[in-house]
Amino acid sequence: MTTPTESTTAVTANATRVLVLNSGSSSVKYQLLDMRDRSRLAVGLVERIGEETSRLVHTPLTGGAEKRERTGPIADHAAALKAVADELTHDGLGLDSPELAAIGHRVVHGGLRFTEPTVITEEVLAEVERLVPVAPLHNPANIAGIRTARALRPDLPQVAVFDTAFHTTMPESAARYAIDVETADAHRIRRYGFHGTSHAYVSRRTAALLGKEPSEVNVIVLHLGNGASASAVAGGRCVETSMGLTPLEGLVMGTRSGDIDPAVTFHLKRVAGMSADEIDELLNKKSGLMGLCGDNDMREIRRRIDEGDERARLAFDIYIHRLKKYIGAYYAVLGRVDAIAFTAGVGENAAPVREAAVAGLEELGLVVDADLNAVRSAEPRLISPNYARVAVAVVPTDEELEIAQQTFALVAPEGV
Ligand code: ADP
Repeated sequence: MTTPTESTTAVTANATRVLVLNSGSSSVKYQLLDMRDRSRLAVGLVERIGEETSRLVHTPLTGGAEKRERTGPIADHAAALKAVADELTHDGLGLDSPELAAIGHRVVHGGLRFTEPTVITEEVLAEVERLVPVAPLHNPANIAGIRTARALRPDLPQVAVFDTAFHTTMPESAARYAIDVETADAHRIRRYGFHGTSHAYVSRRTAALLGKEPSEVNVIVLHLGNGASASAVAGGRCVETSMGLTPLEGLVMGTRSGDIDPAVTFHLKRVAGMSADEIDELLNKKSGLMGLCGDNDMREIRRRIDEGDERARLAFDIYIHRLKKYIGAYYAVLGRVDAIAFTAGVGENAAPVREAAVAGLEELGLVVDADLNAVRSAEPRLISPNYARVAVAVVPTDEELEIAQQTFALVAPEGV
């Protein structure tokens, strides 16, 4: 499945750097890492691609160089990547360096075919294109980033790391919707799940925090960023996750509704006269915390709650209620839970969310220690008291490091 047919995977011993690219519809985020010590050499972001006010922010992390920023039109992903390449060259970290081993690309949808990181060939790209109908917002941007990077360095191994890959171990009972099988199969309708790179990294890191192998522990991972998803990981393998055919299903998110009766969409079409695109926009961009209270940033919502704002309070309560339902459901799916791990922007930073999500679940062995929960740290840590039956952990995610590691493992299997 991952057999390369075009690019060579052999890299020389001094090629230890990996450039990680995360190409969105109007942005490219990047990090250059050195896999000898997993250090970052440079990080940056190009945003508002295609607009007059595009912006590139580049932060070199070696040699004492300063953060650089430039604004002005950047027409497309090709122009964006060339601008990034120029910035890296300026710091002596150019894409032509013999120390660059590979480029690792985040690809959102790998369908059922891509269960592992995969060296990119024309055939692989064609398959990623075939998946555009199930990931219309994401895969086209990922493809644009890959095509541009391949044009810049056609000789360099480039690897796709799929958001869906970690979830391909889900049993059919979890992955299938209860709809007509022929219709589902004809249109590749099933639950794929997303944020897989984060769920993989955080579940492994949580096992390490407990001093165990991933195969020894059952973990519920709560990835709570602007997008949010939960997963149930049994012995290192994902058995259930909350996002489905698209990232819309599951938890209440910053701007997405999460779970909803599908009949709401028929109702909006038939009674409110909305088009499919308008409903899509409503549920993906104008719902969730934003739709409920007009803010999607948990910091702002907490501030408003402290001032006695009722709408912000209700939005928070709905968010927590859904989260709690998923914790209970995944507890039942796993049977035995060793740890619950909070990660991403909200999960790592919002102590009130963590406290509220497990409040009242003492009978399930879930307790949060208020003092430990209040500690702010970038390190993985436990926030449950020693006596608790289930560990509650905060484990900062690092999708770029995970992509770099998976990419490097594929192109330099001997390591450094
Ligand atoms: P994504 O990668 O999905 O865009 P992140 O994982 O970066 O999102 O999370 C962004 C969200 O994290 C913000 O919208 C905000 O709600 C939340 N967040 C960030 N910092 C804090 C904080 N200090 N306290 C509470 N919430 C925070």
